[in-house]
Amino acid sequence: VKLDQPSPDGNIDLRCRVAGRFRLEDKQLTNPIAVGDRVAVVIEGTGDEETGAIRQIEDRSNYVVRQSPRKKHELHLLASNIDQAVLIVTLIYPDVKLGFIDRFLLMTEPFGIPTTIVFNKADLLEAEDLETYEVIASIYKDIGYDVLLVSAEEGTNIDQFRNLLKDKRSLLSGQSGVGKSTLVNAVAPELDLRTGEISDYTGKGTHTTTFAELFNLPFGGEIIDPPGIKNLSFNYLKPIEIAYYYREIFALSPECRFGGTCLHKNEPGCAVIASVEAEDDRVTDLRYHSYLTLLAETEEQNYWERKKV
Ligand code: GDP
Ligand code: ZN
Repeated sequence: VKLDQPSPDGNIDLRCRVAGRFRLEDKQLTNPIAVGDRVAVVIEGTGDEETGAIRQIEDRSNYVVRQSPRKKHELHLLASNIDQAVLIVTLIYPDVKLGFIDRFLLMTEPFGIPTTIVFNKADLLEAEDLETYEVIASIYKDIGYDVLLVSAEEGTNIDQFRNLLKDKRSLLSGQSGVGKSTLVNAVAPELDLRTGEISDYTGKGTHTTTFAELFNLPFGGEIIDPPGIKNLSFNYLKPIEIAYYYREIFALSPECRFGGTCLHKNEPGCAVIASVEAEDDRVTDLRYHSYLTLLAETEEQNYWERKKV
């Protein structure tokens, strides 16, 4: 049975088991299947107890993983086959750590998933906060990300937010308190996002995990609401991959003396360092420093891996 065959009501709920060993390249996953996967199932049960066995996962057009907060070597598959990612942040209440935006972008950049940064709670911004916002927004716009300032409370730019989500499958993320539920309720009151259901993947209590859930939007489109994201780490990436996924740094690397192998730390003839020193804004100070932080974290991890061997 192929679940993508149309059913009379367009939807099937089917409890399935995973039949087979599914792997993601060479990576160790806590979950072999994620929201957004297209699968082939064989129906096993009968009548009321109809169940299925997932036998095949279609090739994914993209996917987003995050490192397990507890086990550095395990990755959790958050979602697959998505059209875009939308990160909701706030400048104040709560204060966004700008480095967090860059960490989030490291999740979406490997597949070049279009990502929009939505700043909520515009109503709380004073004139000087608005200036800060403009500076931050232009940094991200200049490197090719969309940025939107909204207020769920006052309805500011809510139509743009709805248009952003319309007819697309979006990974909608944000740290708790930024107003994600309020924003979604503002465009789709029919949905109730406050259902952060805690599920236990193995049933043994060792991998307690919150599942990402997919919601259909009444005006067309789907949102995938992943479990609360707080600390994002990237020990599974190689240091050079950090350099690839900062897109403006990657774009400059052909001008470095060591080209695509330059880590832009202290290498002679590094075009990235030259740009930061010249303040020509091709690579901004803000992004370069978050890059160095993430690079250092990744290099430290590789050091410990080498020591173990
Ligand atoms: P979530 O954890 O991201 O789902 O956040 P909630 O939607 O529960 O909102 C957290 C708090 O922020 C609540 O007290 C909301 O009323 C408040 N809030 C949400 N959007 C806005 C906004 O646009 N302006 C202001 N001032 N408060 C907001
Ligand atoms: Zn360089």
